[in-house]
Amino acid sequence: MKQLPFLLVLVLFFAACQEDSKQTSTTPPPVATKKIPIPKFDREAAYNYVAKQVEFGPRVPNTPAHKATKEWLSSQLKTNGATVIEQDFVATAYTGEKLNSTNIIGQYNPKAKKRIVLAAHWDSRHITDNDPDATKQNLPVDAADDGASGVGVLLEISKHLATLPDYMGVDIVLFDAEDYGDPKPGNSYSWALGSQYWARNLHVSGYKPKYGILLDMVGAKNPRFRKDDTSMKYAPEIVNKVWKLAKEMGHSNYFTDEIVTGILDDHFMVNSIAGIKMIDIINTPNNTSPVFVKHWHTTNDNMENINKRTLGAVGQVLLAVIFNEAMGKF
Ligand SMILES: [Zn+2]
Repeated sequence: MKQLPFLLVLVLFFAACQEDSKQTSTTPPPVATKKIPIPKFDREAAYNYVAKQVEFGPRVPNTPAHKATKEWLSSQLKTNGATVIEQDFVATAYTGEKLNSTNIIGQYNPKAKKRIVLAAHWDSRHITDNDPDATKQNLPVDAADDGASGVGVLLEISKHLATLPDYMGVDIVLFDAEDYGDPKPGNSYSWALGSQYWARNLHVSGYKPKYGILLDMVGAKNPRFRKDDTSMKYAPEIVNKVWKLAKEMGHSNYFTDEIVTGILDDHFMVNSIAGIKMIDIINTPNNTSPVFVKHWHTTNDNMENINKRTLGAVGQVLLAVIFNEAMGKF
């Protein structure tokens, strides 16, 4: 993801305003008649899922590590009971390069009308352009936090989704080519290429989940998940419900009521292009630009900066959202 200059934020905001009419209401969801236990999230297993991705090497499109990771991700989702769709596409990068890319979609209860979508990006940035050492800035990012953390949490969650009642559907969408954006400002649509493709080519025609939750950089110690203004513009009720639940679960130090502006991430494309409500859980600890963690787009985005407690908090909140939703309580 990327932080936008203020002017660009305004431009995107007004462009996005025109898309509001796409939001439509749906029929009331079915309500469970009995209590469904909320599974316990295994943070150790989530950590191992993050570590495994990093072991493949940077997951930059057109590299062997990228291809091997794609196969592994698909097989993990299948093992965890999902029906998997690999949505292949060729994206054109800001450099003119053609990126062989794949959005990986894991469906649970694909026939259920009531559904939510959970997303993260699985690719790694091709350059560490934010590294303090200028001689290293052409290296690809290990992307333990910026990519693998969200995917790791979703893979661990996926283990529990086959136990959902058949009226409750969940889709896990792992976006590709999120982080191959132009380091020069002003080229916003060079970012989030996978989510742009998916938003224009939904894997099911007429796909209309109730809402979506995007995870990005959810692995660092002592995170500060502020409410980002894109999420608040498109789906404030979902943001507020998730944050309220997180606080009730004891995570008010992580999920704060502050607003953060200027974040360009996959959820912007999903909201503005597909008209699907999607919020972003993203760590923005700094008050000054860049608002992201210190290791963002540097050679330090590695396993040393991944914290099991953070993964556990995010994963448990998400499981509570999903299973409360299944019980008609969210
Ligand atoms: Zn990034």
